Amino acid sequence: MYISTRDNYERVSAAQAIKLGMVPAGGLFIPEEIPQVSKQDIFEMAGCTYQQTAARIFAMYLPDYTAEEIQYCIDNAYNADNFSAPAITPLKQIGDNTYILELWYGPTAAFKDVALQIMPYFLVKAKEKLGADKETVILVATSGDTGKAALEGFKNVPGIKIIVFYPYQGVSKVQELQMSTTDGDNTYVAAVRGNFDDCQTAVKNIFADQQFNQQLAELGYEFSSANSINWGRLLPQIVYYFSAYLQLVQKGKITLGEKINFVVPTGNFGNILAGWYAYKMGLPVARFICASNENKILTDFFRTGVYDKRREFKKTMSPSMDILISSNLERFLCEICGHDGAQVTEWMKQLNSQGYFDIGEKYKKLISDIMIGAFATEEETLATIKNVFDENGYTLDTHTAVGVSVYKRYAAESGDKTITVIDSTANPFKFNASVLKAVAGEEALKDKDEFAMLDELSRITGQPVHRALAGLDEKPVRHTLVCEKTELQQEIEKILGI
Ligand SMILES: *Cc1c(COP(=O)(O)O)cnc(C)c1O
Repeated sequence: MYISTRDNYERVSAAQAIKLGMVPAGGLFIPEEIPQVSKQDIFEMAGCTYQQTAARIFAMYLPDYTAEEIQYCIDNAYNADNFSAPAITPLKQIGDNTYILELWYGPTAAFKDVALQIMPYFLVKAKEKLGADKETVILVATSGDTGKAALEGFKNVPGIKIIVFYPYQGVSKVQELQMSTTDGDNTYVAAVRGNFDDCQTAVKNIFADQQFNQQLAELGYEFSSANSINWGRLLPQIVYYFSAYLQLVQKGKITLGEKINFVVPTGNFGNILAGWYAYKMGLPVARFICASNENKILTDFFRTGVYDKRREFKKTMSPSMDILISSNLERFLCEICGHDGAQVTEWMKQLNSQGYFDIGEKYKKLISDIMIGAFATEEETLATIKNVFDENGYTLDTHTAVGVSVYKRYAAESGDKTITVIDSTANPFKFNASVLKAVAGEEALKDKDEFAMLDELSRITGQPVHRALAGLDEKPVRHTLVCEKTELQQEIEKILGI
């Protein structure tokens, strides 16, 4: 069963948690108990495919789904049409103790595909089980990558409409084109004059607006979320932490039971939290390193115990991490304080009213045993892309480069030799301008449009352009709406014809 982080809702089944997206009264669903895996389970999984591992883990978290239903979801999501790597999330070695977990073989070239290819199937099954008769309207706030991944996952799914809001001029050109050229007869995209936090807050407010929800229900609609506030988004991500570990065991790089580190380029705290759940289930992890860009609110939080959003929002070359309000931290805090919903409510209230909260020494200590935070500047990120390209012949995207940069400094300062897996959250072609600038210098960008840059990056790195981005210039732009951050509700009403 699933409970609210704010202790303000009844216990619900997995299907209900996925269908609702977030707790209607505010708050996020978390599992009441975290399922446990034994060393024997991990030993058995070492012989499994990605899909088989996924089936085992999903069964533990979705007790109200039958094995056949889970298998149906997996078969439709994790197949060769959708993922161009048989391992789904392959591991590449780039240094003695350092591995890159490539999470971007899905249809949109970002790690979010791993979750968003399967989540629509979880949701459709959830609706079937619950006998839901309303049309689901998925609202998405995106810093760039979730939007396209969600559009691809949900397009043409019967009984569902999807509306994506992204910050106007706050995403890369390739990200924007990926979204604006989406086909499908149930897809809608709007650029919002504001930043990601404005989009996310506006969408959360709409979810929490009981009156608007009631009005829509009468018209046969209900909202849900494809952001990582939905448990159905987080769950699939737990699998690749196991997969990374199992690949190291299979390659003989670690012995079963040996602890490893994970470095996670972080924005909304969803990806790293999925890793933490894997750890809590029994995966042997020594440490998580939460890597931020210059929007280093999480770095400061891990160091001081104070989460303080009263700061300037910076636009960086890793836009999917340009976030000051990391939604999933609420889940983590709830877990750390032993499901004390009143405490979580208080912290969230303080964040809202005074712009910060302080978790105090006791909880700070609990967290720092397993998780540390660090950040990389823009210069460090560029230099890391260049160094790794020159020294290892490996091309990093800007987000992954933040992770590698943070890890290199950590390893040098701490002397920690533990085998470390760095999550690679996007394919480098997705952030072609910055990556090209890093490997070939500013001049390489001159007089080139996005598509010339893709070709040039392909020429220099010797890698083919990711299939998600090839041919993007030939697709017609279908979505051109721009709106104010106060107008989301009106835009939704227009789209739904009310
Ligand atoms: C979404 C995203 C992130 C941040 O992930 P969270 O789960 O929000 O912490 C990092 N890198 C890329 C490329 C992303 O798309």
